[in-house]
Amino acid sequence: MPTRTNHTGIGTIERKNNGQSKHLGNLNFDNTYSRLPETFFQAIAPKPVSNPRLIRLNKVLAKELGMDPCIVEERDLDIFAGNAAPSESQQIAMVYAGHQFGNWVPRLGDGRAVLIGEVLDKKGKRRDIQLKGSGPTMFSRMGDGRATVGPVIREYLVSEGMAALRIPTTRSLAIVTTGELVARERMEPGAVLTRVASSHIRVGTFQYFYGQKDEDAIRQLADYAINRHYPEALKDSNPYLGFLRCVVERTAELISSWMLVGFIHGVMNTDNSSIAGETIDYGPCAFMDEFHANKVFSSIDTLGRYAYNQQPSIGLWNLSRFAETLLCIIDHNKEQSTAKARGILETYWPTFEKNFHSGLCQKIGVEHNEENLSLIFRLLDHMSETRADFTNTFRNLPKLITAPDIFNGETEEKLRSHRAFLDWSIEWKAKITEQKESLDTTFKNMNKINPLFIPRNHQIQRVIDFAIDAEDYQPLEEMLTAITDPFTENSKLMHLAKQPQPDEEIKQTFCGT
Ligand code: AMP
Ligand code: MG
Repeated sequence: MPTRTNHTGIGTIERKNNGQSKHLGNLNFDNTYSRLPETFFQAIAPKPVSNPRLIRLNKVLAKELGMDPCIVEERDLDIFAGNAAPSESQQIAMVYAGHQFGNWVPRLGDGRAVLIGEVLDKKGKRRDIQLKGSGPTMFSRMGDGRATVGPVIREYLVSEGMAALRIPTTRSLAIVTTGELVARERMEPGAVLTRVASSHIRVGTFQYFYGQKDEDAIRQLADYAINRHYPEALKDSNPYLGFLRCVVERTAELISSWMLVGFIHGVMNTDNSSIAGETIDYGPCAFMDEFHANKVFSSIDTLGRYAYNQQPSIGLWNLSRFAETLLCIIDHNKEQSTAKARGILETYWPTFEKNFHSGLCQKIGVEHNEENLSLIFRLLDHMSETRADFTNTFRNLPKLITAPDIFNGETEEKLRSHRAFLDWSIEWKAKITEQKESLDTTFKNMNKINPLFIPRNHQIQRVIDFAIDAEDYQPLEEMLTAITDPFTENSKLMHLAKQPQPDEEIKQTFCGT
């Protein structure tokens, strides 16, 4: 249970980096979260590191934020490392709670991250800048507050890959190695990730104050989140209900978009569920290679709570925990409040299905209707029966018509020798040729949503191995070139579109914290 004295409040920053404060590449800081009551955070500076080295700067994102990436010099390296603070920053660790694998934890919080501030980007959009792996905070519990190169590279790759797939996500601005070793199963090189998010408010942030029975704080946080993310909810006769409606809708859309690219988050605890509807906290996540509906990667998800096909219901479970926290401000009458919130939660499945089903139909280039849904579900069955690669099956489908002779990659080979798939392909070809739209247009549209390049697990691992074993970051750059332009053919990078060979396949992923 936090006490007021635990929360130091702005103005009494405990650690002062190196006592330095600097500008960060012309960023337009405007910090608002740190103006909330001091029970919402701990004011704390990152803990300096001994020998920082910038190994990746996301220049495109830097420009979007208003920085001039050409002038990111030593001084900015210090900021990305947590050794200095931008002069306009107000550094805080946010408090939150959460259900981890269904178990209630009354206080989690940023145990290894510091929000250095909010900036208004070039389009005027407010974005959090956070350092992850920046040293201990009062929320670290037994942890060291640090991150290691492997998980930081993984988060960078997967989050930037997700952004390029047009899936809402936190972004990665920079990776700095710290020159320090961090004790995990073995000693590993330390790193700090600069993460950019539309905010870091989670379902767990609301749950923390719910757990504290602090109705005023819930109202303040809800008002803040509405203003920041969903001002349209203010038009609702009950803005808090409007807020819930917006979060339900965004979450349903987000999870349907994961399902459409075969993404498994792996640790969809309520503290990893953003109320802004962004994918957040890339831990043991993975994109599926072979399609299995109940695929699990995370080594700690032994019961398959966060399996691929469980994600839609987990999304609703998390939203139900969120709705619970708002009941006290939706209506004074508990029964009425519950009935109203339930009515909103009931919109989750229709929204999810609308997005998921229409997206599935688009993946095979057909209109969204019942008959075509049955067609796509039968394809998924055949893919699962043959262990076909999720990404390559969809990407290569047009070849069944345009280049039947070269419909012969590894996934295609598996499908071709499957009798039921042959029947399916005859049906699909007939359907697709009957449509009003030309085949050329249909295939172009399919290629705009069926990626060629995704951050495949075995390739991420290869990039990490090069980085750690040889301090060679060239494979990272090459993979980023592919996954940040995921729909475009690139003859030099086709090896990155390949599914893993049996000996390359990664069957489990680890939190690696
Ligand atoms: P995650 O599983 O990454 O979502 O983290 C769950 C909680 O554990 C959050 O409160 C994190 O801040 C905290 N945590 C994870 N790793 C560390 C670490 N190395 N040191 C301190 N806290 C950590
Ligand atoms: Mg987390």
